[in-house]
Amino acid sequence: MYLKEQVLGKGLKPMQLCLTYDDGPGATHGSASGPRTLELAEYLRDQGIVATFFVLGKHVDQHADVLKGVHAAGHLIGNHTYDHCDLQKRRRATLPLLEEISRADEAIRKAICCSTRYFRPPGGAWDDEVAKALCAEEDQARTNGASGRQHIGAVGWDVEIPGGDYGYWKDGKTPEECARAFLDAIEERPEKSRGAIVLMHDSNNEDDLRPKNRTYEMTQKLVPLLGAAGYEFVPLNEIPEVKRRLAAIA
Ligand SMILES: [Zn+2]
Repeated sequence: MYLKEQVLGKGLKPMQLCLTYDDGPGATHGSASGPRTLELAEYLRDQGIVATFFVLGKHVDQHADVLKGVHAAGHLIGNHTYDHCDLQKRRRATLPLLEEISRADEAIRKAICCSTRYFRPPGGAWDDEVAKALCAEEDQARTNGASGRQHIGAVGWDVEIPGGDYGYWKDGKTPEECARAFLDAIEERPEKSRGAIVLMHDSNNEDDLRPKNRTYEMTQKLVPLLGAAGYEFVPLNEIPEVKRRLAAIA
């Protein structure tokens, strides 16, 4: 079920935040920086937080065990395409879209033995035309015997920081600086009357950025700051619009 309107934090209470991490899973051994998706997932679990990880199929193929661990820690898994493709560009080039999502689904199913219901388009590249093209391809697949509607989407976000968290790692800034930027972005957003979905990246699509990732350390700084400011953390599937869409494809 792909709708033009993206799922946002609407319907969440004012101090509720839903944490989401894109572009993983990833793992690093023996270096100071780099993706640490499993450690991040376990830290969040220990804090009583259920986050959502929108994963790339190609990274799942490389780090299936990490995804297993993230799932076992109780987090939600979302589909972020196989290869981080720009769906708007692909549609303009009249290329098929659904296979990028199905391929990622396959990788996820292989790793954790169940499928995901959540979908987020890479780069937020989403519009009515993409949603319609995906629905048409899904209908076609169904007439060819594929099962019914698999996903709800697109899942968007309400809060990101200027330049993105990856911009901080690219510029050699510290996890403290990045956490502070997230706190400011959350505190200063115009719609403080409602909760928000927060966008972070536990790994990266770009090879040169990935080894610089420090989102695990950043999250360890950010969560206590948000807790002290009175925020509470809710899973993606507690957003009323998510519940509605899940019920519609059940
Ligand atoms: Zn992404």
